[in-house]
Amino acid sequence: MSTPLVQLDDVSKYYGNIRALEGVSLEVHAGEITCVLGDNGAGKSTLIKIVAGLHAHDGGTLRIDGEETSLASPRDALDRGIATVYQDLAVVPLMPVWRNFFLGSEPTKGAGPFKRLDVDLMRETTRAELLRMGIDLRDVDQPIGTLSGGERQCVAIARAVHFGAKVLVLDEPTAALGVKQSGVVLKYVAAARDAGLGVVLITHNPHHAYLVGDRFVLLKRGVMAGSHTKDSVTLDELTRQMAGGSELEGLRHELERAPAPPPATSPPGAPAGPRPEAP
Ligand code: ATP
Repeated sequence: MSTPLVQLDDVSKYYGNIRALEGVSLEVHAGEITCVLGDNGAGKSTLIKIVAGLHAHDGGTLRIDGEETSLASPRDALDRGIATVYQDLAVVPLMPVWRNFFLGSEPTKGAGPFKRLDVDLMRETTRAELLRMGIDLRDVDQPIGTLSGGERQCVAIARAVHFGAKVLVLDEPTAALGVKQSGVVLKYVAAARDAGLGVVLITHNPHHAYLVGDRFVLLKRGVMAGSHTKDSVTLDELTRQMAGGSELEGLRHELERAPAPPPATSPPGAPAGPRPEAP
């Protein structure tokens, strides 16, 4: 088996004395999708922050390309080829798609006082890169704010691929999307995998995870509640674990209504209500 692009071993993170993560291990391989599943407060955001270089881990080891390391900043993570696409994408809504595609890394042409943005190159490259991922946008000149949430996620994925990411971390890319748009985004997540990237897909939706995932790590209140490869788990089992099988069963019992008492029956023809007293 090849060396994982990213490997977490027994990683923990505390905020003061609040345990956000403890004993978390996972592997990200080139050309594979590792899904991290968990409910609210499970520690998913904390895990992203560690891999994206926003927070250093307190315990355990983080390896990149087999080398033990600690990331100093998001820039450091990016320099090592780890790109993170957050749910609330940092885009400038009124700027065209191509401008957002190159935001912060704009190519220029000319020299000295004649130096200016190479708009044609940016426009052409954006169009070509989106097409390469199979994204056929009507017009790369339209403001990115006019794209649907799903399309914006796709542009962000294509951007990470273009700028040479080796690892792509996606923070709940389908959380705010409907069924159809989620499908489109998952298609591009798979396209990034096929382009040879190692993908980390954070989600609380086992159905989405199972459609594209190769490995699954379940988090619950900061600890690992399961770790599987695709061939060692079924969708039903993953869904059950995610829903907290036994907790759900307990809740079902609690919510079950006590059976209603049978309605009082009276013989046919009998007057309703109490009989009048005999005089
Ligand atoms: P959600 O899906 O609701 O965002 P999550 O799975 O991303 O949840 P985290 O945000 O990683 O979970 O939080 C894990 C735990 O760590 C929670 O109990 C949370 O309250 C705590 N936590 C997260 N960030 C901080 C912080 N900066 N300071 C203190 N506690 C924190």
